[in-house]
Amino acid sequence: MKIYNTLTRQKEEFKPLVPGQVSMYVCGPTVYNYIHIGNARSSIAFDTIRRYLEYKGFDVKYVSNFTDVDDKMINEARAEGITVPELAKRYINAFMEDTTALNIEPATLHPRATEEIKDIIAFIKTLIEKGFAYEVDGDVYYRAKKFTGYGKLSDQDIASLEEGASQHVNEAEFAKKEDPIDFALWKKQKQSDEIAWDSPWGKGRPGWHIECSVMSTKYLGDTIDIHGGGQDLEFPHHENEIAQSEAKTGKKFVNYWMHNGFVTVGKDEQKMSKSLHNFVTVHDILKRVDPQVLRFFMASVQYRKPINYSEENLKQAAIILDKIKNTVLNVQDKLKETNSQENQDLTIAIEDSENRFKEAMDDDFNVQNALSVVYDLLPVINKNISEDTSDLSALRKFLQHLEKWLAIFGVDIDKLTTEKVSDDDAEIEELVKKRDEARKNKDFATSDTIRDQLAEMNIILQDTPKGTKWRRG
Ligand SMILES: [Zn+2]
Repeated sequence: MKIYNTLTRQKEEFKPLVPGQVSMYVCGPTVYNYIHIGNARSSIAFDTIRRYLEYKGFDVKYVSNFTDVDDKMINEARAEGITVPELAKRYINAFMEDTTALNIEPATLHPRATEEIKDIIAFIKTLIEKGFAYEVDGDVYYRAKKFTGYGKLSDQDIASLEEGASQHVNEAEFAKKEDPIDFALWKKQKQSDEIAWDSPWGKGRPGWHIECSVMSTKYLGDTIDIHGGGQDLEFPHHENEIAQSEAKTGKKFVNYWMHNGFVTVGKDEQKMSKSLHNFVTVHDILKRVDPQVLRFFMASVQYRKPINYSEENLKQAAIILDKIKNTVLNVQDKLKETNSQENQDLTIAIEDSENRFKEAMDDDFNVQNALSVVYDLLPVINKNISEDTSDLSALRKFLQHLEKWLAIFGVDIDKLTTEKVSDDDAEIEELVKKRDEARKNKDFATSDTIRDQLAEMNIILQDTPKGTKWRRG
């Protein structure tokens, strides 16, 4: 299996530290609002990766943090007149709700920055002792230049980093720092009502970067297999995590750095940004979009590629899910029959698909290629079920494989076949109900008209003792 490593900028053979096990850390959200579609993309991309690793038989330990204290948290809590922990509680709950709806498996552990203060302070103390950090008037900074290789993840040299840092100067901080590229590990409390913890440097709170170094090494060990996050975290966040962790432990921090691509919004594929007011929250999307469709859509683009979130693309995903659903329903119907006719070609096609699926996923999680294997197989299956006698054992095998393949994409086959996917479902339901009523009233002219109308929409009706069932043809 090959994984693209951001650090080396190439695909590398994946060799976990402990055979059969994978340690994985993914940077989680700052919980000051509902998660936006960019956060969801990261959660979905790494959940899909995790699920495939589990499918391959790895025992995956997956840690993802909540940043529950920082400037954004403090400002938002102040604006709402509530405490930072109150704000965090609200949006951690919302995160769990949204991610459950999107069928994202909970992390093995979801540590929170505010619950790790003791370890964060100890970590910073060690960095000071080793000469990698210094205190100035209650703030503690990391001495970036002392760390050999600072800039290696984002492929920048010190000169260009300094150039960049001098363009984003906060005058007050600039005056305190030895060098503009040094970054904060501990931030002094600014106002007496601001959330703060006691430390050897006075009252304050941890910086953002340090929390991930602490939680990753604490829960997964000094060196881990995979560290993931959005492309925007490559610099400075992950660069700083490497500097902090490797300076403290003297060991390699992460073997495989993985970064997911951006999400653009709308027809003109704009980047999401505060100034464009196009931050789309999952909470809002799920009021009108089926979570299965959103999940499948986001999982069906390879994690490193950009995703364009648009109505059109969501619609396409819904159509594909519908096609899969139809085949599954038809196979399930067919499996009620008793006569079976062995079809060697079908068995071979299914086995071949399994191999090609794995081959695609083993190539840096190429989900698009993996899904085309599934799409190619559907007509082969449909052909077999259209025959008078199908190969029932092959069809059963197909369902078993499909269930596992789709689960990697967060699609639950039972849910898919029992819940509605398309927008026009409500309309169809309404027509089916009207037809049932017409039949009850022996108004066969009306019921026939509705049946024709549904047939035109490619809807197949099945009259059962429990009422009329329908499915797409
Ligand atoms: Zn992080």
